[in-house]
Amino acid sequence: MTKKTVLISGAGVAGAALGHFLHADGYQVTVVERAPGLRGSGYAVDFRGAAFDVLDELGVLDEIRGHDTAMRGTTLVDADGGEIGRLPAETFAGELEVPKPELTKILHRLTESELTYVFGDSLTSLTQHDDGVAVEFEHGAPRSFDLVVGADGLFSKVRQLAFRPHEQTLRHLGMSGAGFTADNVLGLDHTGVLQSGEGTAVYAFSAADPGRMSVSLSFATAAPVLDRRPRTEQEQALRDAFAGVGWIAPDLLKAMTAADDFYFSSSAQVHLDAWSTGRVVLVGDAGYCAAPTAGMGTSQALIGARTLARQLTAANGDHTAAFTAYEAELREYVTENQIKGQEGAAAFGGSTQ
Ligand SMILES: Cc1cc2nc3c(=O)[nH]c(=O)nc-3n(C[C@H](O)[C@H](O)[C@H](O)COP(=O)(O)OP(=O)(O)OC[C@H]3O[C@@H](n4cnc5c(N)ncnc54)[C@H](O)[C@@H]3O)c2cc1C
Repeated sequence: MTKKTVLISGAGVAGAALGHFLHADGYQVTVVERAPGLRGSGYAVDFRGAAFDVLDELGVLDEIRGHDTAMRGTTLVDADGGEIGRLPAETFAGELEVPKPELTKILHRLTESELTYVFGDSLTSLTQHDDGVAVEFEHGAPRSFDLVVGADGLFSKVRQLAFRPHEQTLRHLGMSGAGFTADNVLGLDHTGVLQSGEGTAVYAFSAADPGRMSVSLSFATAAPVLDRRPRTEQEQALRDAFAGVGWIAPDLLKAMTAADDFYFSSSAQVHLDAWSTGRVVLVGDAGYCAAPTAGMGTSQALIGARTLARQLTAANGDHTAAFTAYEAELREYVTENQIKGQEGAAAFGGSTQ
């Protein structure tokens, strides 16, 4: 019997985990990733609840624990950098926190011999037929697959092509921010520091590399389009937002411009009535992003991948039944996380709508 073929768009957390489970279940999996290679960025991600079971099933839990940032908490400071309070480590680091690039590398190592990875390419069209999905790519030759999975994050191309345009599925939570690494001028040692002002927040922490700190500068904005604008415009928006902010902010703005690992992202959620259409299904941020302010995105991506794979196995290849059961099992959990994301954004000065 020929193996069922699956195309996964996105080699992130959900894509790699799902690919592993589907491969184990006899599927032939191709993963197309827009980036030219594995992505690395300065922020850390954390795991909570049932995500630990998924890491265990993937066989990577011990390796992941080896990269624990071992944070000891966050100091809250006033406008001049004076201490005004403390947050326990769990607030931002959950039960276990690791740098995202380490997680991505571990999942890629686990799956590189199981899946066919194609880097530096992206879907341009997909057309569903009774017996498969015809896919066209920016670079590769057109191909057909039995199933197509969108695991391609907040701005999912699969969602855009098979569901609805971004304007109808993304809900901006009123805050955006930049992340980058800088010299650890604050002398942070497995600790973080948070300064929240009027519509701005500075957060910095240092863990694995004592000489460097990861910095996040967030600001309240009603302009989600900034995510798709050039870096120069994003930096200017940050300089405008932090113009009156003192303490270390001016130095951090300079470090931002010099940083070679700068990224910009808005706190946004994905809301869809259904996570599948025909032979196409979404997993992780692509289908139901809860926003970074929920602190649940990575756990949700892992749990989503495992739930989808399990339901495909249980339905013995009946994708329609599997997709329905996947969504029925996960909806409530996702809704709870999205509420947390909205509350988190509001606490940083964003909106709850
Ligand atoms: C600043 C920031 C801080 C965060 N902090 C936390 C945290 O503390 N805790 C937590 O749990 N989560 C956090 N998150 C969220 C977390 O990173 C995501 O929720 C999680 O990675 C979702 O996994 P995913 O596989 O759905 O998407 P991703 O891991 O984002 O993977 C999507 C992949 O798809 C690729 N892609 C995009 N477009 C295309 C395309 N057209 N074709 C092919 N590939 C494409 C991307 O390059 C990427 O590799 C944070 C996110 C940000 C931005």
